[in-house]
Amino acid sequence: MPDVNVHDKTFSPFITADLIQKRVAELGAAIDTDYAGKKPLLIGVLNGSVIFMADLLRHIKSACEIGFIRVSSYHGTESSGKVRNVMGINDDITGRDIIIVEDIVDTGDTAVYLIDEIKKKNPASIKFATILFKPTALRHAIKPDYIGFEIPPAFVVGYGLDYDGLGRNLADIYQLKS
Ligand code: 5GP
Repeated sequence: MPDVNVHDKTFSPFITADLIQKRVAELGAAIDTDYAGKKPLLIGVLNGSVIFMADLLRHIKSACEIGFIRVSSYHGTESSGKVRNVMGINDDITGRDIIIVEDIVDTGDTAVYLIDEIKKKNPASIKFATILFKPTALRHAIKPDYIGFEIPPAFVVGYGLDYDGLGRNLADIYQLKS
């Protein structure tokens, strides 16, 4: 697979679409097993999670619902370290089994913030699903419950992840070329 250019940067192929699809199918099957007899509410974090959410959803065979939340914490290729809630969940989630669906957990700031916010709404349970996890960048004692791939700390695009707005539509995941 060739490199791709996004804005001023070049990215190399990292995780193929085939591999991603196989892993997402496994995560869907795991969620199916874990939530047998329940009706989880999957809450996607916009914009990055849309593609993962759409794929994951189609691999969950039992009844489930979806919703979306929007936060911003990242500008360019470096984390700003700030998390702001831009668009919240308006539905009543009291007593619901929640699965937060993210594109990537980097420092974990967003994940911790979201878990705290959602806890305030008294759900029955909260789990966290992410397609990518950078364990070396983590600043909190958390580990996502459903992880697609653990990756090194390089900046990635594709499969929903962007570089300044572009690259989300790439079917494969690419890594910034150093
Ligand atoms: P955290 O709060 O865990 O530091 O960062 C989470 C958010 O940062 C993600 O939802 C994503 O928007 C952004 N992010 C972190 N690492 C990357 C990366 O390698 N590529 C892209 N495109 N976004 C990233």
